[in-house]
This record gives sequence, C-alpha cells and structure tokens, in this order.
Amino acid sequence: MSEGENKKSAQTHNIRAARQIVDTVKTTLGPMGMDKMLVDGGGNVIVTNDGATILRELDIAHPGGKMIVEVAKMQESLCYDGTTSTVVLAGQLLANSEMLFEKGLHPNVICRGYHEASQVATDYLKELTLDQWKSRDSDEPGHSNEFLTMIAKTAITGKTLETSLDSVAQLCVDAVTAAGNVDNVRVLSLPGGSIDDSYLFNGVVLNKDFVGGSDYDINYTYEAADVLLLNTGLEMEKGEENVQVQLDAQTYQSFKDSGKNDLLARAKMIVDNTDCGILFVRDGVAESVISYLKKNDIDVIHRLPESSMKRLSKALGCSIYQTPEEQMKPFKNVSWEIQKHNDVNYIFVYGGQPDAVAISLDETTLILRGATNTTLDEVERGFDDALGVVSLVLNNGGAVYGGGSAYVAMASHLRTRAASIGGRAQMAIEAFSDALESISATIAENAGHDPLDTVLAMRHAVLNGSTSMGPDVNNGGITDMADLGVVEPTELVRQAVLSATEVTNAILRIDDIIGRKGVE
Ligand code: ADP
Ligand code: MG
Repeated sequence: MSEGENKKSAQTHNIRAARQIVDTVKTTLGPMGMDKMLVDGGGNVIVTNDGATILRELDIAHPGGKMIVEVAKMQESLCYDGTTSTVVLAGQLLANSEMLFEKGLHPNVICRGYHEASQVATDYLKELTLDQWKSRDSDEPGHSNEFLTMIAKTAITGKTLETSLDSVAQLCVDAVTAAGNVDNVRVLSLPGGSIDDSYLFNGVVLNKDFVGGSDYDINYTYEAADVLLLNTGLEMEKGEENVQVQLDAQTYQSFKDSGKNDLLARAKMIVDNTDCGILFVRDGVAESVISYLKKNDIDVIHRLPESSMKRLSKALGCSIYQTPEEQMKPFKNVSWEIQKHNDVNYIFVYGGQPDAVAISLDETTLILRGATNTTLDEVERGFDDALGVVSLVLNNGGAVYGGGSAYVAMASHLRTRAASIGGRAQMAIEAFSDALESISATIAENAGHDPLDTVLAMRHAVLNGSTSMGPDVNNGGITDMADLGVVEPTELVRQAVLSATEVTNAILRIDDIIGRKGVE
C-alpha cells in the first residue's frame, strides 16, 4: 500500500468507526426516538433514551469512536441536552466528507470549509432567536414562566417523563427560577410512588438518622422543635486517643476519665443552658455523651457533612456554634419529619423561620419519585436535561424553534452564501448545509415518516419566509413548531453545531493511527 493510501485508510477507518457509534444512538433522536436497553456483564440493566448515557456505557475501543463519545460528554456538560443532535450532526458531517474525499477534496480544504460554515451558521442563530424571549422582563405576569415551561417540555418530549409532561415541566421551571440556576437545584431520588408525586421541598433533607435510634413516628411532621447546630467538641480529640506515652493502667484510666468528664461537662452545658431538643453536630459525638443527652431528652444527629450544616443554618436562619462553651441559643419552632425510603431513614427539616418572612435558601431540593430504580434513573436523567435547558435559557438568554427548524434555516442561509464563494470551499459549505438538515430528517425518520419529503418541505417553507416549520411526527410532513410550543435554547443549538464541527475536523485531520507504549 502506498503512503497516500495508508493515510486515506486511517481517515476512512476513523470515519467508519465514528459513524458506527453515531448509528447506535441515531434512532433515539426526537420525540418518537426509541429507547436503548444497555446490559452489562453482571446483568445490570439501564433503559435510556439519553444519547450521552448510551455513549458513556458503550465499550468503545476505536479512537474514532471514542472522539464521538467525548463530544457528547462535552455537549452534556455545557448544555445538559442536545447530545444526540450533536452526535447525529457530526456523523452526517463525516459521511458527507467521505463523499468530498471521493471527489478529490483534500481534508484541509474540507476542514476549512466546515469551520467557516459553522461560524456563518451560528452567527445567523441570533436572527433566528425568538422575540418572545425579549418579553421576559415585561409586565406580563406568567409570560416568561409559560415560555420556560415550553423549553422544559421540549426537552422532556420522548422521554419516560412524558407521561407527566405538564407537572414535570412546571416543577423544573419552579425549581430553577427559585434557585437561580441548575447548579443550585439539589435532586434527591427516592424510590417508590410515581413521577407525579415528585415535589419541591423548601428545606434540607439529611441522609441521616438519630444516633442510637429514636421513638419518633415515621412520616409524621413534628412541629416546634428546638434545635442547635454545633460544629465540634463532643468527642475525644484524635490526639487524646493516640498519645504516645507510657502510662500504667490506673493512670491511663484516670486520664481517660478526665477526658470523658470534660466531654460530659460540655454536654451538661448544653443541657443546663439551653432547652434544645435536637442537636445537629458536624463532628462525631462520643457514646457516653449521646446517652447522657438522650437521658435529658436531647436527640443527636452527628457526623453531618459541612454542606448539610451550612444548609441547615441557612434554611433555619440560625448560626452554627463552634463549641458548647459558647453562649448558645437554640433555634425554636423547627418542623421536621422522618421518612423511610427503601429501608433508609431520611430526616426532612423544613426551612424558614415560622414567624419571619419566607427566607431564601438560594437552592431548592427537588424530590423525585419513581416506581423502580431503573425508571427512577431515567426520570432523573430527564429532569437533568429539563432543569439544564431552563437554566440555560434563563441565564444565557434566547431560544429558537425546535424540531431541527433552526438547523434547516441555517442551512438555507449558508447555501445563499456558498454560491458567492465558489470553488472547492463552496462544495464543503454545501456539504455542511446538507448535514445540518440531518436533524429534522432523523426526527422524521424515527417517527416513521419520509425524511426527504420533510426536509424538502421545510426548505420550501424557509424560502417562503417561515422558519418555524418542523417535522410533524404524528402525521408526517411538516407542522408549525410555534403552535406546538417546541422551543429550545439558542445556546444548545450553537454549541451542538460548533462541537460537531470541531470533532469532525479533528477526525478528518488524523492521517495516521500509531500505537503508543502503555504508561506503566
Ligand atoms: P437530544 O439528545 O439531541 O436532545 P432528543 O431525543 O432529546 O435528542 O431530541 C431532541 C430533538 O427533538 C430536538 O431537535 C427537539 O427540538 C426535537 N423535538 C422535541 N419535541 C418535538 C416535537 N413535538 N416535534 C418535533 N420535534 C421535536
Ligand atoms: Mg434532548
């Protein structure tokens, strides 16, 4: 084989491997996309429709395929959703580049053409961004909420969650608008119940139980508890237990007792100086102290993560004391309950000071319910997507119509530009435009309709000035995405186009695969 052929074969291998990976996830795209069942060697099953999850779980050896997985992960981390679209687009760009190779185009020419096309296309997205968004700050109450709900619904369509579309979408919008952004939404999945039982909890959930058990009833809301938050001071310090000195048995016992007495003295301060009922402690609490406190009607939850302590402090509006020597004042009137899920007890502490105005927690806890662990995982993934896109629109502004309509409009815009460029680069730009249309084509195809008819009808609509038409997944042909409320973040589409182009170009630039020595 000549050197030229060798290089070409490296490209072809990479492209083939990448496209094979694309084909496995392609059928999941869109509202009628199918689910995949992933089974590992141990028989563990994941049922999912989420492109990034499928790719993460695939055992991929070929470098070209691995690059596709990377781009899906990148899209997920930046935009939370749109992973399958990114991968499908990259697959089509690669397929089209193979045709260009055959026509004699050099990979560099293709890369340059693709790169330029991606810039022009994504610039045009600004013009496709919907005006509705601009009324976000307008006086119309509820308008922005309604719009955000549509964003959430589009992300959920086709997923397990779809059965509870309205309530889930509303929950996501409420969670993100209350918390400011998706990073401040804590999601807690509790098996049992149905998706519709999911709710927002304004408070703190502790994955903990009282030390030494308690007689409290499960699922009963206790009110008016007096609580204290304490950082440290109720167990022997490490140093005290590990001292390297020789002591005879008696001296050692009295040394130990003095430590214990210190601790009990501190515990006594809590009992004498406060009327605390529940003590939340960051560090550990010695057993002797726990039983002493219990005798004095104080229940203890210890070894709480710092984050939980901070959350409790914020939710209740009370301070965390460093040691019992401080002047401590318990926080009054706290409502709480114990819930048992899958044999694990959780303590739910309700936020807010009873007599004060509602406090802002800066974060929200979304309690997810689902019948089994398998469905619950997929529910969680659906929520992640929906929470993410709502946050993206809320913080990065802007949305476009979905169903691939923005991609088709970008393609038409590019074609008018390509004609004026001429030459070989024009061919690459045209190939890029064709690839952009693969999103709508695949959505239509996965719904059992003719992809070509759909794309041609959408192109025609764009020529006539309508950029909101997309695949009609129920009846075939096209329908107005504006009527269906199918909208998605502009940033998601922009990132999908840029990432897909980047990975395609990276694959095209590789002309050799060389084995590396493994790192010891
Ligand atoms: P991704 O991983 O790319 O988000 P999805 O399977 O979630 O893949 O499909 C997303 C695509 O489906 C987006 O282009 C979105 O606009 C489109 N879509 C969602 N709902 C509809 C609908 N009712 N009709 C047509 N397209 C839709
Ligand atoms: Mg999606």
